[in-house]
Amino acid sequence: MSLANGRTYLAIPGPSVVPDAVLRAMHRASPNIYEGELPDMMPGLTADLKRVACTDGHVAIYISNGHGAWEAALANTVGIGEKVLVLSTGHFAQSWSRIAEARGLEVDVLEFGNGGPIDPSRVEDALRADSTHAYKAVLAVHVDTSSSNRNKFAPLRQILDDLGHPALLLADCIASMGCDRFEMDAWGVDVALTGSQKGLMCPPGLGFVFFNDKAAEARRRLKHVSMYWDWTNRSEPEAFYQYFSGTAPTHHLYGLRTALDMIHAEGMEAIWARHATLAQAIWAAVEHWGQGGPLRLNISDRAHRSHAVTALSIGKPHGTALRRWCADQAGVTLGIGLGMGTADDPKSDGYFRFGHMGHVNAHMILGLLGVVEAGLAALDIPHRAAGVAEAAKVISGV
Ligand SMILES: *Cc1c(COP(=O)(O)O)cnc(C)c1O
Repeated sequence: MSLANGRTYLAIPGPSVVPDAVLRAMHRASPNIYEGELPDMMPGLTADLKRVACTDGHVAIYISNGHGAWEAALANTVGIGEKVLVLSTGHFAQSWSRIAEARGLEVDVLEFGNGGPIDPSRVEDALRADSTHAYKAVLAVHVDTSSSNRNKFAPLRQILDDLGHPALLLADCIASMGCDRFEMDAWGVDVALTGSQKGLMCPPGLGFVFFNDKAAEARRRLKHVSMYWDWTNRSEPEAFYQYFSGTAPTHHLYGLRTALDMIHAEGMEAIWARHATLAQAIWAAVEHWGQGGPLRLNISDRAHRSHAVTALSIGKPHGTALRRWCADQAGVTLGIGLGMGTADDPKSDGYFRFGHMGHVNAHMILGLLGVVEAGLAALDIPHRAAGVAEAAKVISGV
């Protein structure tokens, strides 16, 4: 017998749960792209996106996934053959560095492993050693979705400023924007990027690159910029057709309009607080289960744990078995372990992840944890019983 029929929950770190209101907004006949509602919507969309990133700068919207946003951020800031410094705390920083290499950039990677944050002192040493200012940009991932580590950006800005180093600071916020607190201007980030399918609660298909005037100046310095990724026209919402370098992603824009309405009705502070509390509920359950068995949170320091995604280790082959049980028996799909492989577990079978980004609330998280607890029992995976009760304490605030 399976108990999976009913509304399913895709509890993976992207794509995330799309609200019914967003789906309804997209379910319509093709709109007029020459004039009227759709082109008129653009200035409001860009203004409301910038409020999510906490920036007064500019935003370019691409028809792309996150990989496209990675490409776009580099295409507008660093010339072919120029040098960048990548600060890696996991799989996604490494993937971004490969995109940089494929573009013909010279890439230095500072590797911090996937168990914790960037160490600012090593960054300082690397930038101090770069006395000729060869690095044009420093690339870092805010929340690395593979490890669920969350990095701090203000200290990186401080190092660049203290050394008088002119490199741009680029932030991948694909997993975190609209979930974890991120304040682009206050933290001194020059370019921030994200996609539509995580905290922004839309289907995959839109990429967003936010940039300040310093980054815009870097773009003007470049001789050649791929026309598709050039952010020049794309940050002027009045130039509707040029804005998308072709046909606009009509239905996605309607979905995004509704998602941004929902986001700003709740408010950024309230959204960050909701994600923080739900994440703490998950941590409480996992730490309790772990007292009687192999389950562990991947990031030990709370201050560096994401509020949008949680990576866990459980030992091979329990991760894969638990994911299968939750999907087949209870209608909940957990995220695979990603980039955590070791010699005896190359496919990360001993890891899995919870995605808790965007349109998630207390009943979904308690349901998710209840299902996992049932799965641990059904599969005879050692754990201390009644972890869900610990999560409920966090939710109830007592
Ligand atoms: C999801 C994700 C990406 C990749 O986005 P795609 O849309 O899959 O290309 C990159 N970086 C981070 C931090 C992510 O979470």
